[in-house]
Amino acid sequence: MNQPQVVSPNSGRGPDDEPDSPTRRLRHAFLHHLFYTQGKFPALATKTDYYLALAHTVRDRLLQRWISTANEYTKNGSRTVAYLSAEFLMGPHLGNNLINLGLFDDARKSMSELGLNLDDLLYEEEEPGLGNGGLGRLAACFIDSLATLEIPAVGYGIRYEFGIFHQTLVDGWQVEKTDKWLRYGNPWELARPEWSVTVKLGGHTERMQDNSGQLHVRWVPNRTVLGVPYDTPILGYRNNTANTLRLWKAEAPEAFDFAVFNRGDYQGAVNQKVVSENLSKVLYPNDEHVEGKELRLAQQYFFVSCSLQDMLRIMKTQHVPLHEFHEKFAVQLNDTHPAIGVAELMRLLTDEHQMHWNQAWDITRKTFGYTNHTLLPEALERWPLELFKRVLPRHLEIIYEINARFLDEVRQRYFGDEARVTRMSLIEETGERYVRMAHLACVGSHAINGVAELHSELLKQDVLKDFHEMWPAKFGNKTNGVTPRRWIALANPRLTRLISGAIGEGWIKRLEELRQLEPFALDPNFRAGWREIKRANKRDLSDVIRKRCGVAVDPSSMFDVQVKRIHEYKRQHLSALHIIGLYHRLKTNPNLEMTPRTFIFGGKAAPGYWMAKLIIRLITSIGEVVNRDPAVRDKLRVVFLPNFSVTNGQRIYPAADLSEQISTAGKEASGTGNMKFAMNGALTIGTMDGANIEIREQVGAENFFLFGLTAHEVATVRGNGYRPQDYLDGNAELREVISLIRHGYFSRGDGELFRPLVDSLVNHDPYCLFADYQSYADAHERVGTAYRDSEDWTRMSILNSARSGLFSSDRTIAEYCRDIWNVQPVQVPILSHEDVRVELMV
Ligand SMILES: *Cc1c(COP(=O)(O)O)cnc(C)c1O
Repeated sequence: MNQPQVVSPNSGRGPDDEPDSPTRRLRHAFLHHLFYTQGKFPALATKTDYYLALAHTVRDRLLQRWISTANEYTKNGSRTVAYLSAEFLMGPHLGNNLINLGLFDDARKSMSELGLNLDDLLYEEEEPGLGNGGLGRLAACFIDSLATLEIPAVGYGIRYEFGIFHQTLVDGWQVEKTDKWLRYGNPWELARPEWSVTVKLGGHTERMQDNSGQLHVRWVPNRTVLGVPYDTPILGYRNNTANTLRLWKAEAPEAFDFAVFNRGDYQGAVNQKVVSENLSKVLYPNDEHVEGKELRLAQQYFFVSCSLQDMLRIMKTQHVPLHEFHEKFAVQLNDTHPAIGVAELMRLLTDEHQMHWNQAWDITRKTFGYTNHTLLPEALERWPLELFKRVLPRHLEIIYEINARFLDEVRQRYFGDEARVTRMSLIEETGERYVRMAHLACVGSHAINGVAELHSELLKQDVLKDFHEMWPAKFGNKTNGVTPRRWIALANPRLTRLISGAIGEGWIKRLEELRQLEPFALDPNFRAGWREIKRANKRDLSDVIRKRCGVAVDPSSMFDVQVKRIHEYKRQHLSALHIIGLYHRLKTNPNLEMTPRTFIFGGKAAPGYWMAKLIIRLITSIGEVVNRDPAVRDKLRVVFLPNFSVTNGQRIYPAADLSEQISTAGKEASGTGNMKFAMNGALTIGTMDGANIEIREQVGAENFFLFGLTAHEVATVRGNGYRPQDYLDGNAELREVISLIRHGYFSRGDGELFRPLVDSLVNHDPYCLFADYQSYADAHERVGTAYRDSEDWTRMSILNSARSGLFSSDRTIAEYCRDIWNVQPVQVPILSHEDVRVELMV
């Protein structure tokens, strides 16, 4: 632990402060928490103590809004969005809460009066990394926007004890370390054990008739677990709304303990406890790839059942009748991870509340909306039938019933088309049998959406074609967005000051107002200021790179950045091949004019994804060779920044000149990193994929470096028997690149190390790197030339930012509210302590 900093002895009172100034109040509250929450005095306090004291100070200011919000929603019985997501990649809370409360500058001042640096304290927070990448981060941006737009909403998920692993590099290879984010406690959450719920698992079902001849099904589980909610307040920006992120922790039910203890089986009882708690132990670290593990299905069911039972409890306290479930709650499924909710709501309504099937089905369909997030077949969830039956025997029966009724409808509608019936069934019956979760989500929802225009089109034409033909009106598009509070105001304070100085602060809430920056793109003074900010951000990142990678990079070189999960479809290796191409050019022509570039990579590979790990090794190997070669080191640097996370992203996106968005067209559903880069003034080199298309449309084709095949062309090229060897034969530079790797130039002569990667490219190249190589290299030529005209580059950079307003998650959420959820804002008046006391006395 770090040594404490000096806290000035006259801490209670700063230099020239008014008796009741915000900084003075913060300072007092901070010292109060240092003493009474942390139990420390300054000489013994660690940085963590200081961070926690400040966190508690801020938390007190949230609680008042939180209570007022809950009070207002309860009083009005407001229609509520329930956002169900297996992942919430929140990032650190303290800085964000200070921004939203409008206390950031006061906090900095009051800390500095105590001899403390606010940034140091902010970096003490362990980020809750409860997600893999884009999907989990989207959920985090969405709950931020919901609170800012004053929409009554709850985010429901899992309180993983271990979030996404911490990535380290050892000899250039990824090595995973567990993420112990709860180690020093979590000041942002409140446990609510009084609202715990019981979840059943496994066992079998029984049928019986009651006196009136009505059939009842009883599910006899072989175990139960307790779901305990942990609540985190989610503040809106400068309003009084504090919504709730409710994450479920799995515990062993006490009654169960007793039974086993009484049998004298202590070890067995403890074992059962461990098994129960495993349910929320660890996040599965796979992105865009499913692993059919029983524990994963149990995890999904666990949090979905807890959440739906919680909604029923809320309805009961607010005296809302059961048949109004869909009027009280709009439930959104973030991908198919929570799709079991369709069967679970049917079970709760019919088995546990004796509602008739047809009415329950009508309510269920009106309740759910489903967001699809992927076009990759290996990412579509399906569960082997036997496994599913073992975990959820009753749900399998319910799914059979839903399927029977659904397929009747299909047969009626498409007379004689049994092939279609087979394709659309909730059960895959060719070979091993599976439950298809995407089909369950489609059948059980009233709205289905993709996350960018191209993606939504491809869903309709391809992945969910039959469902679109049957229910065209259910389908829509909701292009993703990101929150400008975290990704500009917090991550890029320098730029925030410059922009607000020019156009006021309204853009933080209404990002379209950034358009007002357009005229400034022609103002030389403004451009100089803009450039200086980018330079300062690059200097900051250079310091981080020096510390973490031991490499000195030049802030005046172009920072060319690709940060995102490592995946073949995202094609980090296309960039790697191109860097080798540049290296080869420089070695064969030492006097070549070339724009100096620093290539910065970051991202985690799924621990079991061997090829992704090999791509990391290739990048680090290229770095080892290039960075120590005096012939090129002034023109080319390559670094891999370990452990890409929200915290690290906040320093990386603002420092980028060039954003690499180079996925094979038709594979990236949307991307959101592309939006964070553009907002912060990076230009994009990218394919016609996901939201890149819409970004290009917004910023203007002349301010975007486009390359590569379109989704349609990729399909055609692959359909006509794609032969990567032909591209290799036709491209001398690409041949040199492959030959250097093959001969061990980047692996100290080891010709075997990268063989699997090279063989895969030469023989199959499933993501068409070779087909796009020349086009990519040409686009990079244009980038290099453009960067040398720094005035014009700055102009384009400003325009990228000015025209990125569409990509605020506020816009996305407003569309969900209007088209899918049908919810209205509810304004929260702030309650004082007095008001609360009065309420209590009534
Ligand atoms: C935004 C973000 C992502 C998503 O990046 P893409 O480039 O859209 O894949 C992944 N991880 C983190 C930490 C992010 O902040």
